[in-house]
Amino acid sequence: MADKGLYQCPECGLHYEDEQIAKQCEAYCKKYQGCSMEITKLSVERSKTGENP
Ligand SMILES: [Zn+2]
Repeated sequence: MADKGLYQCPECGLHYEDEQIAKQCEAYCKKYQGCSMEITKLSVERSKTGENP
């Protein structure tokens, strides 16, 4: 599951530096069929691209 020290949510494909956050994302994605903004904003992808308008 680990890729270059990152953890990927298998549901949405976003990567996280924290395994616990990745697990939270996976649980949320499975339950609600979508991502939580509060969680995805912590993803590596969001961190690199900065804030979304
Ligand atoms: Zn997810």
